[in-house]
Amino acid sequence: MLAVQTPPTPLLGATLAELTEWAQQQGQPAYRGKQLHQWIYEKGARSLAEITVFPKQWRETVADVPIGRSATHYRSVAPDGTVKYLLKLADGLIVETVGIPTDKRLTVCVSSQVGCPMACDFCATGFGGFKRNLAAHEIVDQVLAVQEDFGRRVSHTVFMGMGEPLLNAESVLAAVRSINEDIGIGQRNITISTVGIRNRIRKLAEHKLQFTLAVSLHASNQALREKLIPSARAYRLDELIAECREYVKLTGRRLTFEYILLAGVSDLPQHAVELANLVRGFQSHVNLIPYNPISEADYQRPSRERIEGFTAALKKHNIAVSVRYSRGLEADAACGQLRASRAGGRYEAPTAVVNDL
Ligand code: SAH
Repeated sequence: MLAVQTPPTPLLGATLAELTEWAQQQGQPAYRGKQLHQWIYEKGARSLAEITVFPKQWRETVADVPIGRSATHYRSVAPDGTVKYLLKLADGLIVETVGIPTDKRLTVCVSSQVGCPMACDFCATGFGGFKRNLAAHEIVDQVLAVQEDFGRRVSHTVFMGMGEPLLNAESVLAAVRSINEDIGIGQRNITISTVGIRNRIRKLAEHKLQFTLAVSLHASNQALREKLIPSARAYRLDELIAECREYVKLTGRRLTFEYILLAGVSDLPQHAVELANLVRGFQSHVNLIPYNPISEADYQRPSRERIEGFTAALKKHNIAVSVRYSRGLEADAACGQLRASRAGGRYEAPTAVVNDL
């Protein structure tokens, strides 16, 4: 019997070529790679032992090679159909993922880190602290988990769960490749959201990829941004904007600016004027996110009139703008409501999957 060659471990996240090469190293024909790819990415196999098209003897030899899927530890469904999952990683840490269905779309909001070190003043993840970066397969797994649970294909992936993607760019880009090529989600339907890390937006441009970049601007002036986002002290708003302009120039792609609306803090008429001035003449789009309340902060969500007023003010300045009314608010699954700290507490469940309908 052949010794088991070192596989691309875990297998999840590996390309078709890598899987084929590995199968061949095992003395298997090349088409086993294709079968492996299909079973991992389409059929959602969790172990090689369940791949029944493989010869029994080989299956037994490689039974312990990990595919790298996480177990669903908890599942909660909001009245609007949004589902939040807590996935248990191999080392026991918990990560959150959200599935957001509409008639035509199924969007997965994936995490890139367990927790987040950025500590933004309005974000529950930041209050929970930072544990570690996710490996590529732990990101890809989140998409498969949602696809499997909904029983339909995921159409969009947004890196808007826990963590700062550009602090884990290597794994995030490897995951983007796999989500695109192996799972089959178009790059244009993949969005990476970042608070902005010096030089990393420019670096992303070099990859010449087609995904959408969303930048969490959240404030129209340096003083307010510093108050909301600690890292803005070291990486100033003007530098961030300059880097974003460079990104647009290098990629020719439109960029999205996310802007959180905090009542009385960032939703005043003067903020709309400042914001319009910041992004004017820029191939960009402003996505307003009304604050989703979290227990750790005492900001308020603006009234609908204020939100509409702010939107209208930007439009008056010819700024392309939309409002994101987050889904899943009731399940604590909306933007900024994902927290690592509760993972060991309220969510601890005796069974593998708890349906909290
Ligand atoms: N670290 C990335 C991804 C964060 S989550 C980033 O900063 O972009 C995606 C978006 O949700 C970000 O724009 C984030 O600032 C926003 N967000 C965080 N907390 C929020 C809250 N309580 N209400 C509304 N949006 C929030």
